[in-house]
Amino acid sequence: MKTLLLFVVAFFAYLLVRFIMKRVNEIRQDALSGNEQEQNTTSEKAERMATCVECGLRLPESEAIPLNPAEKIGDTYNIAFCSQEHKQLYLKKHS
Ligand SMILES: [Zn+2]
Repeated sequence: MKTLLLFVVAFFAYLLVRFIMKRVNEIRQDALSGNEQEQNTTSEKAERMATCVECGLRLPESEAIPLNPAEKIGDTYNIAFCSQEHKQLYLKKHS
């Protein structure tokens, strides 16, 4: 009888450990997929592109040089450039 009780206790201990391991794995996977989602949202932000008015080059908006930061309409620059040179070129043409 004592052996049976020990067996039952051991069995439940085994089930408990399995349950905990499963939960740990689930939490780990949730954390991983959460990270992936974060990465996805950041890459979506990075994918927002601006077009250089001078040469038509498309580049991430974070790297684009706005004609005037105050002109930012919504989330996109109205007029942006790929480089300071193209900004100067544009300013020369339009002054
Ligand atoms: Zn350009």
